[in-house]
Amino acid sequence: MSQSRNIPPTVLIIGSGVFGLGTAYALAQRLEYRNTKITLLDRLEFPAQDASSIDSSRIVRPDYPDAAYSKLASQARKYWRRDFGADGRYTESGLCLLLDETDENNGRDYLNKSLENVRDKLGLKVGRREEGGKITVLNDLSDIREVIKGMDGDLGRCGYVNWTSGWAQAEDAMKYLRTLVEETGRVKFRRTELKQLLFKNGDTVEGAELTSGEQVTADLTILATGAWTPKFLDLRGIASASGQILTYLDLTQEEQDRLGSNPSILNESNGMFIIQPSNRVLKVARHGYGYANPTTIPHPERPESGEEITVSLPRTKTDDPNLNVPLEGTKACREFLARYLPDLADRPFTHTRICWYTDTPNSDWLIDYHPKYKGLFVTTGGSGHAYKFLPIIGDRIVDVLSGKDRNQFGAELRKKWQWPKQKFRQDHVWTDGWRGGRKGMVLDEELTRAKL
Ligand SMILES: Cc1cc2nc3c(=O)[nH]c(=O)nc-3n(C[C@H](O)[C@H](O)[C@H](O)COP(=O)(O)OP(=O)(O)OC[C@H]3O[C@@H](n4cnc5c(N)ncnc54)[C@H](O)[C@@H]3O)c2cc1C
Repeated sequence: MSQSRNIPPTVLIIGSGVFGLGTAYALAQRLEYRNTKITLLDRLEFPAQDASSIDSSRIVRPDYPDAAYSKLASQARKYWRRDFGADGRYTESGLCLLLDETDENNGRDYLNKSLENVRDKLGLKVGRREEGGKITVLNDLSDIREVIKGMDGDLGRCGYVNWTSGWAQAEDAMKYLRTLVEETGRVKFRRTELKQLLFKNGDTVEGAELTSGEQVTADLTILATGAWTPKFLDLRGIASASGQILTYLDLTQEEQDRLGSNPSILNESNGMFIIQPSNRVLKVARHGYGYANPTTIPHPERPESGEEITVSLPRTKTDDPNLNVPLEGTKACREFLARYLPDLADRPFTHTRICWYTDTPNSDWLIDYHPKYKGLFVTTGGSGHAYKFLPIIGDRIVDVLSGKDRNQFGAELRKKWQWPKQKFRQDHVWTDGWRGGRKGMVLDEELTRAKL
């Protein structure tokens, strides 16, 4: 990394999701940035309803095969257990990770390594919950049925429950963080849309050009536009938007009472998951390879050149209010329901949503200065797992930004998040080991198929 770490007099953060808002909060609190003017802009009113960071729930778990994320998640959880998670923003329901007999996506490896980490590196006690166990290993279907009540379907072959995992009310916690940022009085919020970065001399970014035509200059521009980021930089082979399916259905009070104290369920063999039902709503979703939405755009770094590139970008209900999950996706959720909760298999979905991951080839985030453009720092690449770090992610981002590690394993994290030396040869369709659904699905093809 070659960029100067001088304290910038002005910082422009673009994107107010977990990465952007988290960065704003950490910057606003650090003494060395006390004279820095911080502006945070987003294209939509906060909370942006199609942002990845905004939803009814996100799983909070230290269950990672990678010990660094596991430890980082366990640090974040301390905050979830305190103020951050108060007033219903965090529920420590437990998380049950399951495997099927057939495990085409190699979720077994992910699960076994995660178990090793939480047991051996985090030191969580193994045993039955009633006996103080934090991790309960499930060796067969009857073990699974003992921890998941009121579901007598074909739940899986084996797995474990981590009783120290839970879920966050994602939108509420984002609102909580926004209030904390507002209270610092240090951040100017603007609702306005980035058109393109302001490139100068082919080696510097000086701020942003907005769709209104206005130019906002800054000594440091921080791009935190989530799955939209490939619209503003050529990230082919580095980061790409993949559309993931979410479905919601209403429960009766009797069903809520029957299912409401269960842990959330993650099937690592097919990527399907059910969050602990709350307020009589059940959410069924898939951690999948997702849909690509190939879009041809002017080359974002050379917009005047006439050159075009094709990248996957989000399409959301903001673009098309009638956009719903394709039939392929609702079928996957129905089949999962038919297996786990047969009595709900035909219950209409109250709504469905395609929510966009910013995938990287190995699911590590991308948090670094741009290797080519001075004045540009990029923080994205959540890859479907960054939400849980909300209370601490900004601090880690500012560690990288300022070159000062405050975390005991900061150097290890910095290495993971650094700008890749090589682009992956294929753009899109990468895997972190346990994605579900078909590989290589294209959103338009799946939407058309549904109409045939
Ligand atoms: C379906 C789904 C399930 C997930 N489940 C989990 C989970 O259980 N646990 C977990 O830890 N993580 C989970 N994640 C991942 C987590 O939610 C994301 O990693 C995280 O929210 C990404 O934050 P972000 O800031 O990168 O993106 P976003 O939250 O999308 O923020 C990007 C912001 O940039 C703004 N923006 C975009 N373009 C422009 C522009 N031109 N001008 C101005 N602003 C712009 C957008 O409006 C948006 O507000 C899940 C993600 C999805 C999609």
